[in-house]
Amino acid sequence: MKVAGELLLKPGKERSLKRRHPWVYDTAVANVRGRPKAGQLVALRAHGGDWLAWGAYAPDSTLRARCWSFVETDAIDEGWFGTRVAESVRRRAPLVEATSATRLVFGEADGLPGFVADRYDDQLVVQLQSCGAETERETLLDALLQATSCKAIYDRSDSATRKREGLAPSSGTVRGPEPAELVDVHEHGLRYKVDVRRGHKTGFYIDQRDNRRLVQDLASRLARGGIDAPRGLNCFCYTGAFSLAAHRGGRGETWSIDSSADALALAQMQWEANGFPPASARWQDADVFEALRALRTAGETFDLIVLDPPKFAASHHHVERAARAYKDINLNALRLLRPGGFLLTFSCSGAIDVDLFQKIVAGAVIDAGVDCQLLGRLSAGEDHPMSMVHPEGEYLKGLVLRRM
Ligand code: SAH
Repeated sequence: MKVAGELLLKPGKERSLKRRHPWVYDTAVANVRGRPKAGQLVALRAHGGDWLAWGAYAPDSTLRARCWSFVETDAIDEGWFGTRVAESVRRRAPLVEATSATRLVFGEADGLPGFVADRYDDQLVVQLQSCGAETERETLLDALLQATSCKAIYDRSDSATRKREGLAPSSGTVRGPEPAELVDVHEHGLRYKVDVRRGHKTGFYIDQRDNRRLVQDLASRLARGGIDAPRGLNCFCYTGAFSLAAHRGGRGETWSIDSSADALALAQMQWEANGFPPASARWQDADVFEALRALRTAGETFDLIVLDPPKFAASHHHVERAARAYKDINLNALRLLRPGGFLLTFSCSGAIDVDLFQKIVAGAVIDAGVDCQLLGRLSAGEDHPMSMVHPEGEYLKGLVLRRM
C-alpha cells in the first residue's frame, strides 16, 4: 500500500467521517499534504491530526475524497480490494435461484465507493464512477473475475457522474470476449434480452426485479378475482419488462408506451421470446404525457398501471418542476384506472424523498377525484442496498395504490 498524501480537515469537519460516512467535500478540507494525484490513496485526518480514514483523492470533484476504510490497520492493497469484492459478490449468492441478472457491487453501499458491477448470465458489466475506482480499475476487474469465475467484462463507464470527477467516459470490452449482441437472462421464470453496449444503465433495470414480481402477482390476483384477462398499461416501458410480468401473471392484454423505438423493438422481441401472443401486446412509440391524455379522450381504462419514468429531478434545483411532472402523469394515469385496479408509481429522483413523492401522488389522487388506498411503499431490490450512514445512496422509490 502506497499512501500518496494526507488531507487535513477543517475543525469540526471530522464528524461525518466519525460516523463512517464515506464522502469528504472540498469545503471540508483545510489543506493537502504531499502531492497526491487523482485517485491515489490518502489519509484523512482531523484538524488536530487524528487519523480518521483511508480514502481516494479526487482533486477536481466537489467530493474531494471517498473513503475506502475507517480502520487504520487496513492495508488498502490488492488483497483488501479482493476481499471487499468477494464479500460483496457472496452477499448476492442467494439471488441465484431467482435470476441470472444481479448487481454484484453497488458502490458506497458495499464499501466500494464509485464501483458498480452487474452480472448478466456470464457477462459482467462495470461502471467506474470515481477517481478512486478508476485508479484501482485493474485490481477491481481482476478481483471481480476471481470472485465470479466469469471471463468477460464490459465497461459502461459512460454516465455523467464521471464528468464530475474529471474523468472522460469510457466503454468497451475490458476482459475476455466481446459480449453477445443481446445477452439472455432469466428472472422469476421470464426471459429478458439485455443490450449491454447500448442499453440504459448497464443494459437493464435490475433494480426493479421485486416490483416486476409484484406486478405479476397483482395481475394474477386480479385474474383469480374474477377479472378475466386484466388489462395493463405500462408507461415508460423501456424494453417492456413490467409488461411481460403483467402478462405472465394475468394473461391479459398490455399497452406499453415509450419514446424510444429501439427499446420498443427489443421489447417486442422479448415478448415473443417468452412465447406470448403478439396480439396481446400493443407497443406505442409516444410521449407519455400526451399519450395519457389521448387515452382518456379515447375512453380507455386499465386494471393495472405502471408509471416508471426517468429521473425527472437531476438535482435539488429541479425538484419543483419534477414535482409538477410527477403530479401530471399520476393524475392522468389515475383517471384511467378502473375501480379495484392497481397503480404502481415510481420515482428514481434522489432529490425527491419518499415522503415528498407520496405527497405529490396524494395531490394527484385528490385532483383525480378518486378514492385510493396505499398498499405499500416500494424500493430497489436487495442487491441495490443502501448504507445506513449514506442516505444519499437512496434513489428508487415507489408506491402501490388500489383504487376503491
Ligand atoms: N420501466 C422500465 C424502465 C424505464 S426507464 C423498466 O422497468 O425496464 C425510462 C424510460 O422512459 C426510457 O425507456 C425512456 O426511453 C422513456 N422516456 C423518457 N421520457 C419519455 C417520455 N416523455 N415519454 C415516453 N417515454 C419516455
